[in-house]
Amino acid sequence: LDAHVAPSIGENGEIKGVITVFHDITEIRRLEKMRSEFVANVSHELKTPVTSLKGFAETLLDGAMHDEEILRSFLTIMLEESERLHRLIADILDLSKIEQHKLPLNPVKLDIVNLILETVSTLREEANKKKLEIELPKTESLLMEADKDRLQQIILNLVANALSYTPEGGTITVDVMDKGQEVELDVKDTGIGISKKDLPRIFERFYRVDKARSRQSGGTGLGLAIVKHLVESHHGHIKVESEEGKGTSFMITLPKYQA
Ligand code: ADP
Repeated sequence: LDAHVAPSIGENGEIKGVITVFHDITEIRRLEKMRSEFVANVSHELKTPVTSLKGFAETLLDGAMHDEEILRSFLTIMLEESERLHRLIADILDLSKIEQHKLPLNPVKLDIVNLILETVSTLREEANKKKLEIELPKTESLLMEADKDRLQQIILNLVANALSYTPEGGTITVDVMDKGQEVELDVKDTGIGISKKDLPRIFERFYRVDKARSRQSGGTGLGLAIVKHLVESHHGHIKVESEEGKGTSFMITLPKYQA
């Protein structure tokens, strides 16, 4: 704790009292520590794909490029790594804009059921590949106000995670409910679940239960941090329940109208 003390002087120069200003240094230190950890994490996360790109390019130039099969497979890996790098940079920029409140929301009237159908259709192919069933809301339409792109980003991130962390043959359920002044959006899966120990940390930037698995599915470790920020900037809440080996449910409540 850091305290600044200053006398409070009255009109005639008499001392009326003492003003004390307390700064909670521990909070400032904590934020500084978080920031420098974030920079260290970002550097590390960016380095990994760049190192791999460099390695593959060098090996190709060293002679591996003359074998067409190797050439093709290395180029495929390099393309995937570049895409990961691209996603990572986009997520980092998004997160930093959100955290500096430089991402103004543009709320419009929309039908969230429609938006869910639109968003899920972009993930159909991936779901079919993994033989995953996606159950959609039974409600025909539900009107609300939200930033369309940002709400789509929330849905996309949650459903994409459900696809990544659910083994073949599982089911993903997306549902919406009209709660009067609020709308509830649920994304449920029958996947690997999250342990009690990890559950409170999954919204942290770069926190991943299983780094290798997340990398393999193309994850950046930033998706849920972004989702939480976007929900909160819409004045909503996000909750998660999970059981290892059984599945995970994310429950989001958003106000129907943005003030
Ligand atoms: P990632 O890009 O690694 O998926 P996220 O921020 O989206 O990063 O999620 C953080 C971590 O939370 C994931 O790495 C994973 O361990 C866990 N997680 C997220 N969604 C699910 C889910 N539906 N089922 C199981 N684990 C999940």
